[in-house]
Amino acid sequence: MKVLLALLLLICAPVLANSQQPQLTYALRYSAPGSERVRVTIALPDAQAAPLTLVMPRAIPMGYGEQQFDRYVDPVLAFSNLGEPLPVRRTDGPRWVIGKAGVRVRRIEYEVNLARMEREILGASDSSMVRPAYVGLLGYSIFAFVDGFEDQPIRLHIDGPAAWPIFSTLAPRMPAATGSTAAQAASFYVLADSQIAMGPKLQVQRLTGAVPLFVALYAEGGVDIELHGKLALEAMEQVIAYFGGAPFPHYTILIELLRPVSPEHRYGFSMEHLDSSTYYLGMDRGITSKSSAEQRDRERFNFAHHIAHAWVPKRAYGEGYFPFTWELAPVIDTIWLSEGFVRYLAIEVSSAGRPESESKAYRQRMLDGLRGIVAESPAFIRRMTLVELSRVGSTRYSEDFRTGRNLFSRGALMAAEMDERIRERTAGKKSFRDGMRSLMTWSVRYRRAFHIEELPAILAEGTGVDTREVMEKWLRPL
Ligand SMILES: [Zn+2]
Repeated sequence: MKVLLALLLLICAPVLANSQQPQLTYALRYSAPGSERVRVTIALPDAQAAPLTLVMPRAIPMGYGEQQFDRYVDPVLAFSNLGEPLPVRRTDGPRWVIGKAGVRVRRIEYEVNLARMEREILGASDSSMVRPAYVGLLGYSIFAFVDGFEDQPIRLHIDGPAAWPIFSTLAPRMPAATGSTAAQAASFYVLADSQIAMGPKLQVQRLTGAVPLFVALYAEGGVDIELHGKLALEAMEQVIAYFGGAPFPHYTILIELLRPVSPEHRYGFSMEHLDSSTYYLGMDRGITSKSSAEQRDRERFNFAHHIAHAWVPKRAYGEGYFPFTWELAPVIDTIWLSEGFVRYLAIEVSSAGRPESESKAYRQRMLDGLRGIVAESPAFIRRMTLVELSRVGSTRYSEDFRTGRNLFSRGALMAAEMDERIRERTAGKKSFRDGMRSLMTWSVRYRRAFHIEELPAILAEGTGVDTREVMEKWLRPL
């Protein structure tokens, strides 16, 4: 699997632009503790002919829904190559037209109101936040792009209040209390998919695994970062071993354990990214020395699930995942695979390493739970094919979690039956894992989305077993 690892690192490594050449630069400034706003300045590589269009994301990669982050952007300012202010006009959708014909644009500046964002976005996992001694920023909630510049490498400068430690998932390191840092992103997608955390209340831990693992944590109560780190490292090592290599040079687990902003706010969803995952949870999910074995199991499983998404769908995906459409959530046919197969493999890695009887019982319990979810679903959802359900879930996965739960349950049960068939036909020599490794190899080789019809052949390349019949059975209405 060394070849796979090398190839993956190659396609995922940031493009290091020559520092002598003009480069697209983003400067993010959070000026003072307690401030509700961040300011972002985009400096174009050269003054560009106006008009340009500035676009703020409304869709989140793998978010299966929309958030109108443009609502929190105000004001937007622009300047010419001579430093003169330029006209800015808001248009339909999350867009601003910058400048007018005959002038050149050098710089665009805007502010994002983070406090309002957190008040109005009720799903904690979709919002950035400010506290008196901490700021947590999701890239796609604060970074806009200039239409046509999405594929250019970006230099990012981050400034915070004096002596604040600043952490970026793009260049993770133990943060010094310097109030500034810098990083590089290969494209807007990579920048938007990253996170920034800063402030005296930010805790960071660096752990050594197959790749360096960083755990960044902010908690509004007493928790043990070392215990969170131990579970996260176990999960990361399990998933890397499952795939036979890591597709990232480092990985970050960013945890925020929060007291609710209002009774309407929801805490509990986590989100996967290319080289990191975010866990914006209620304080009840904090791990201390008093936490039960079940709670530790649950958190380790949640880490494993979201770390595994760095492979599927972040790097091996069906149509709609990539290239990503930032202004409207894409309609995706394969959420059952991304969520279901990954849930199944998280069950597999979580049951491994236990005594055999315990491992079997764990797997049985988890699969029974999924069968229970399907059995208790409303008939109209059971009657939908998995592709129909996936299209509905593309915008309502967590908003109406009946769709999300059915997608991951039916997808995971499909994977379990595929695994049983592969093991049976190969007398235990091959398993679903070999199919997943084959899917990764295929995705690295072809660098495109797979089609559903191609899946059985891709999986069979690693296992020698045809699972088409199992797939087609589970795709049909129940
Ligand atoms: Zn997931």
